[in-house]
Amino acid sequence: MRYISTRGQAPVLSFGEAMLTGLARDGGLYVPETVPVMTADEIAALAGLSYEEVAFRVMRPFTGDTFTEAELKGAIARAYAGFGHAARAPLKQLAPNHFLLELFHGPTLAFKDFAMQVIGQLFQIELAKQGRRITIVGATSGDTGSAAIEAFRGLDNVDVFILFPHGRVSEVQRRQMTTPIEGNVHALAVDGDFDDCQGKLKDMFNDFAFRDEVGLAGVNSINFARVLAQIVYFFTSAVALGAPHRKVSFTVPTGNFGDIFAGFLAKEMGLPVERLVIATNQNDILDRCLKAGDYTKHGVTPSISPSMDIEVSSNFERALFWAYGKDGAAIAELMDELKTRGTFTVSANAMAHLRDTYDSGSVGEARTLEVIGETLKETGELVCPHSAVGVGVAAGAIERDPGTPMVTLATAHPAKFPDAVEEATGLRPALPPRMADLFERPERVTRVANDLAALEALIRKERRA
Ligand SMILES: *Cc1c(COP(=O)(O)O)cnc(C)c1O
Repeated sequence: MRYISTRGQAPVLSFGEAMLTGLARDGGLYVPETVPVMTADEIAALAGLSYEEVAFRVMRPFTGDTFTEAELKGAIARAYAGFGHAARAPLKQLAPNHFLLELFHGPTLAFKDFAMQVIGQLFQIELAKQGRRITIVGATSGDTGSAAIEAFRGLDNVDVFILFPHGRVSEVQRRQMTTPIEGNVHALAVDGDFDDCQGKLKDMFNDFAFRDEVGLAGVNSINFARVLAQIVYFFTSAVALGAPHRKVSFTVPTGNFGDIFAGFLAKEMGLPVERLVIATNQNDILDRCLKAGDYTKHGVTPSISPSMDIEVSSNFERALFWAYGKDGAAIAELMDELKTRGTFTVSANAMAHLRDTYDSGSVGEARTLEVIGETLKETGELVCPHSAVGVGVAAGAIERDPGTPMVTLATAHPAKFPDAVEEATGLRPALPPRMADLFERPERVTRVANDLAALEALIRKERRA
């Protein structure tokens, strides 16, 4: 299996190389040259298997020669052993044809654990084989950072630096990043928003001297291995609801487009997915783009679903690559326009391609709180604000197509966002017992300017040579 860049100008890599490389050297994102297909019989055979076994069967064709079967199986087994639910990604029924896919039973209570725990294991295997050490730098809107720290803390051959927007993550999110005691992890509070953090991360990758000096690696969803691990729960949930004999739709609370793009790949692999519904909060650039055909930045407004406060949605580039018939030059041009002018227009052909697969909707702050309250009243379930954005947008999609089961992804545990949940319901969700002392642990964090030279200097100084 070969991996190519969405901008067409970077070296073609193996899975293992693409995983350790992160951002392609032409600024693009790596994608598999062809998407492996599973037959209806192979999909039907997933029914009743463990999450780990499904993960192995779905991921195996993408990983080529990088890992032996035993290595991949072992990595998957270790990745999910610490989850707080035997099903890993259990489905809960909300209404006759509406289901909630709970993706928050991992160590940091958000769906990011599903991929991060696996790539933590895969990185260890690959680095040991190559005798290499790396510096992981990640940008986070709140949940990627803690998931990455949890996956890489204490490892000898990895230093981890997480950039998060100062003052714009929830207190639980911040404490999960600032309280681990291992010396190889560093939380950096950047004066800026998430797009600034992700922009600086991309600038570091494009500073080839720095990149090579520190052995820079990325675990944001620009890393294809992240997206790959997220394909799995689209399969487990659809099969539980009758696939391949029945079509299923998904609503995905979306920011950087990684999770929903995993759903697109599941569909490309042969899973009968009817619609993929993009759910955004008031930062609705993706919803506006799907409706009007132009991708135009308006500035990010902080919301009660901070993990979706994003305007430069990295993985949308991968969706555009498919929509433009894998024309890397066209994608490079669009991304250049976005960087220089803050906007680009999607061609009519590409829009038709996107609308074949995706619907979209957005939910504002007041409505998000209402949905949390209504969901509790109607079903007894407490949902986090991100999941509530999904539930709110899914309602419209179910009305348009009541015959197809809808799965809404519950992307975080309500206890990660207790203030919003309490405001909506009067109930303050408790952290699971293993995290109950989170608010007593001392914090360790470095405040840093939104400045490339300052960030690079700090990383050079703090990493272990
Ligand atoms: C990261 C995150 C999202 C957005 O996921 P993307 O893959 O960036 O689209 C939504 N909800 C929560 C809780 C998250 O942590």
